[in-house]
Amino acid sequence: MTKIPHRITLSEEHIPSAWYNLRADMPNKPAPMLNPKTLEKAREEDLYPVFCKELSHQELDETTRFIDIPGEVMDMYKIYRPSPLIRAYNLEKELDTPAKIYFKFEGNNTSGSHKLNSAIAQAFYAKKQGVASLTTETGAGQWGTALSEACAYFKLPLKVFMVKSSSQQKPYRKAIMENFGASVIASPSSTTAAGRAILAEDPQNGGSLGTAISEAVETAVTTENCRYVLGSVLNQVLLHQSIIGLEAMEAMKLYDEYPDVIVGCAGGGSNLGGLIAPFMRDRLQGKAKTRFVAVEPISCPSLTRGVFAYDYCDVGKITPLAKMYTLGCTFKPASSHAGGLRYHGMSPILSQLYHDGMMEAIAVEQTRVFEAAKLFARCETILPAPESAHAILGAVREAVRCREEGRAETILFGLTGTGYFDMAAYSVFNQGQMTDYRPTDEELEKSIAVLPKVTKM
Ligand SMILES: *Cc1c(COP(=O)(O)O)cnc(C)c1O
Repeated sequence: MTKIPHRITLSEEHIPSAWYNLRADMPNKPAPMLNPKTLEKAREEDLYPVFCKELSHQELDETTRFIDIPGEVMDMYKIYRPSPLIRAYNLEKELDTPAKIYFKFEGNNTSGSHKLNSAIAQAFYAKKQGVASLTTETGAGQWGTALSEACAYFKLPLKVFMVKSSSQQKPYRKAIMENFGASVIASPSSTTAAGRAILAEDPQNGGSLGTAISEAVETAVTTENCRYVLGSVLNQVLLHQSIIGLEAMEAMKLYDEYPDVIVGCAGGGSNLGGLIAPFMRDRLQGKAKTRFVAVEPISCPSLTRGVFAYDYCDVGKITPLAKMYTLGCTFKPASSHAGGLRYHGMSPILSQLYHDGMMEAIAVEQTRVFEAAKLFARCETILPAPESAHAILGAVREAVRCREEGRAETILFGLTGTGYFDMAAYSVFNQGQMTDYRPTDEELEKSIAVLPKVTKM
């Protein structure tokens, strides 16, 4: 058999020419999205005030299997794609496992995460439609950075509302965004009515994702020809992220490999949904028996402890309602060092698959996650983002199971990004000061009790 190299790097012509829309092959489609104002089934036109036209179409399209990647998007993809698929030989050795461990590495672009894959598409379609500017929020900073990069490339002005406490913890994230020309505003700010109301009550307020979203949304609706964009959870975002899975499948094919289990971290579900898409198609069509494992933080356990119900995708309640596993859009997750996983809901596509028993989920403690991150960094020399390290921990647990059961399975996980801006978190962990927080049932019940009442569907 061909010796498998450490790093399987495809060449440019291997970048897929189309995104793959998993919904087309799902026997049970996600429930229809609802118009946030009327709570009726959303039509494409209903989404135009929020998303630009082509993205509205992609959001509701559940039949077109492949959607061509526009040339302009491809030109920017080519700068950093295909991303490498890496065999973690050293980690395998360290764990003394018969399993083969592969990871698809999405951190080798300046934004440091997979989020750029969708940011480019969203910025492109907005520019094409003549949208004058974009606005968004960012918690941990990865989405804001990715969108800044994409907007700079397409020459589109961008205003990013960054959670104030996070902008103080990660000042260099702000600096990168500004370097790409974005205007970064610490939220709560005095630039919006929502921000001013909060500051009037509490001038020291450190902000939250919810507040930052409200400010971004207010800015979008009060600014001429400005749109608000979201970096996860939406169907369109999973569609764009399918490029991760398509490339991974292509690279594995070269070496006659096929994963027995795929593991990914899950915040809103976009990297995991993208990574598993073509493999899930095989499973749905009975061609493979691959297991799929979502790893979420115990502090924000939407799949493992949430309910499957209609909810808003954003705390500002302007995006359509989707049926998904959710903790309720008013749920305020405890502060954690994996900011990118602090999201109340889960992609409607992944939620449906999980509901149908096609996917598994585990919730893990951040202290365990940082142990796995350090083990991985020492073996494989890449410093992982705390979010990504959730997937590492999941993969390590699978590899240990393989050792105990004496099974030489093939494990694939998504390494979504790098952790250079998370050194404060690593320091807290290294000083033994990191704690774990598991919300109580009462806490979860509170936000679940106020889910929107949808009776018609
Ligand atoms: C945002 C983010 C995630 C989580 O988002 P998903 O939509 O669940 O993929 C994971 N890893 C990194 C590095 C991120 O920036």
